[in-house]
Amino acid sequence: MSLTADIVTTALSTVLDPDLGKDLVTLNMVKSVEVDGRRVRVGIELTTPACPMKDKIESDVKRAIRAAAMGEGIADATVEVTFTADVRKANQRTTDAGNPLPRVKHVIAVGAGKGGVGKSTVSVNLAVGLAKFGAAVGLLDGDIFGPSLPTMLGLDEVGAAARDNTLLPFERHGIKSMTIGKLVDPDKALIWRGPRAHGAFTQLATQTDWGDLDYLIVDLPPGTGDVPLSLAQLLPLTGAVIVCTPQRVAQDDARRAVRMFEQLGVAILGVVENMSYFIGDDGKEYDLFGRGGAEAMAHSMGLPYLGQLPIHIELRKNADAGTPLANWEVPGLGSNLDALCQRLAAQVSIATMSSGGFLQPTISVS
Ligand code: ADP
Repeated sequence: MSLTADIVTTALSTVLDPDLGKDLVTLNMVKSVEVDGRRVRVGIELTTPACPMKDKIESDVKRAIRAAAMGEGIADATVEVTFTADVRKANQRTTDAGNPLPRVKHVIAVGAGKGGVGKSTVSVNLAVGLAKFGAAVGLLDGDIFGPSLPTMLGLDEVGAAARDNTLLPFERHGIKSMTIGKLVDPDKALIWRGPRAHGAFTQLATQTDWGDLDYLIVDLPPGTGDVPLSLAQLLPLTGAVIVCTPQRVAQDDARRAVRMFEQLGVAILGVVENMSYFIGDDGKEYDLFGRGGAEAMAHSMGLPYLGQLPIHIELRKNADAGTPLANWEVPGLGSNLDALCQRLAAQVSIATMSSGGFLQPTISVS
């Protein structure tokens, strides 16, 4: 008896992607199977480079193939798993002629019920974090009334540039970004409303040369104004992230933001609880705002919970200094941010699968 590629593939069809709840063959994640006597090599293509389930998938794949080998009387099979990643497109709408950004796979809005809860901080760190995992990421400052990105990305000394009719995005910290704060006097933008705001936002979103992106994160203005409506009309959104602090009053505002997205037909990818707690010099955790409040809200509304961020002085310092990557050098903070990015990436893959965005199988077997 001997091990064949067919036997290995059959074994792989019993391994589930834990987030997506379907097997690797059905999900078209098995890209190659090579069998050489007792040695097996499989290539698995993840649906995001920030996949939180990579280690589990690897051990499940090895276990399933070794069990299949045992069934063939081979007790000492060696299994090598190599991973690649390809973020799948959101859905068919992204290939429609009417989509102004067909090369952007996922547009993700980041909203909040009110200002000051850390929406821009979360947007910046999600964008930079996803890029650290290897994704191609853009960040659009949709907060045209109060753009924070020039400061948070350290763009003060960088000039805006255009080619023909196209804005060239800033390229810093591993991401592409665009903000009105570098194009007009922010004090003027403050009084824009209605058509003016819509026009400015549309131009920023569609006239920037984003190139090919896996994720375009859009930092929205706080509350429920014109820009989310413009965004939902303009681009096919994969979904929205809601940033909320734990207090009851913040939750009430966040609920309104959730309802607004639902009315616009935009799925909620998850809730982030920011300023969840504070770690004092004594190392003790202080639940200043009632830790767990936003998490409880997410659960009560049936929304995915992406995780929390503590109040951390380095988050504030690095936002003010425009050095987001330095957050990953802070013990505990980098892994916290990575976990948020991974949970968001997983939710994007789940939303993509449920929208029918996964393509036909292309397995190469040898
Ligand atoms: P929003 O976009 O919701 O108005 P910001 O992201 O601009 O909020 O955050 C408001 C202020 O709070 C900024 O100075 C930011 O650096 C700070 N901040 C946000 N989240 C945290 C946090 N978890 N820890 C420390 N400071 C934070």
